[in-house]
Amino acid sequence: MSVALRVSDLKASVATEDILRGVDLEVPFGEIHAIMGPNGSGKSTLSHVLTGHSAYEVEGSAQLGDEEILSLEIDERSRLGLLHGFQYPTEVPGIRLGAFLKEAAEERGIDADEVERRIEESVDRFGMRPFLDRSLNTDLSGGEKKRSEIFQMVVLAPKVAILDEIDSGLDIDAVRQVAEAVEAMRRPDVAVLMITHYARILRYLSPDRIHVMLEGRVVESGGPELAEELETGGYDAVRERLGIETVKKDQPDIPAASEFFTETPFDR
Ligand code: ADP
Ligand code: MG
Repeated sequence: MSVALRVSDLKASVATEDILRGVDLEVPFGEIHAIMGPNGSGKSTLSHVLTGHSAYEVEGSAQLGDEEILSLEIDERSRLGLLHGFQYPTEVPGIRLGAFLKEAAEERGIDADEVERRIEESVDRFGMRPFLDRSLNTDLSGGEKKRSEIFQMVVLAPKVAILDEIDSGLDIDAVRQVAEAVEAMRRPDVAVLMITHYARILRYLSPDRIHVMLEGRVVESGGPELAEELETGGYDAVRERLGIETVKKDQPDIPAASEFFTETPFDR
């Protein structure tokens, strides 16, 4: 199976603060991988750095297929097939979901008939028909926004989809629906990297691999047994087993500052 995303010794810092401290990761085509880690471990930073957010000093390598992407602009990465689903999808009043999808697809060189076909093929599976003529993400519940993001990804057919905190802030029914939507993205020519803080979503979907991120590194990768350990013992169990000391942060379990950077002026 060929590798869709290969990240090697990826480092990222802001001013003097090192956030990613050498991330190694491989996601083959056809697989769904999960990155799990406590708040502040660098998960969103990883997705921002891969997408091309300009806030960070970056070192190391990230390849999409055979292409090195770290020196590319955001839109170039996107055209190569990288899509990033945001932790807080932006509300865009006045732009309808269906129209937005057609525009985005045209930008990627997908012709109009093909977009129609893909929308028709997936719209009911993701329960998105009522939303096609509504403004993008506007007044949607958290779960609906995530489903909408995943539906958009399926229509735009990325090579690598990165979904940040796909289950945060959702009630358990919405988590299950989002999990099913992620599972429905599974295709031989797509790789999915889903980022999550909580193990509970893994009750409803089975990633091929789970990577645990602590303090800016992937410290362990494994199968479903890792999800079980996390659900019962939390990140402390992994730390203890690997002999990694807890770094005491002055901030408790609250969202990291960078999680708000995806908000835009469109949000109310
Ligand atoms: P996670 O998504 O795992 O909760 P983040 O990647 O959001 O973690 O953040 C990791 C750490 O890096 C946090 O301490 C956060 O405050 C810091 N950080 C991330 N982005 C920035 C930034 N642009 N400026 C300053 N600090 C940042
Ligand atoms: Mg985050």
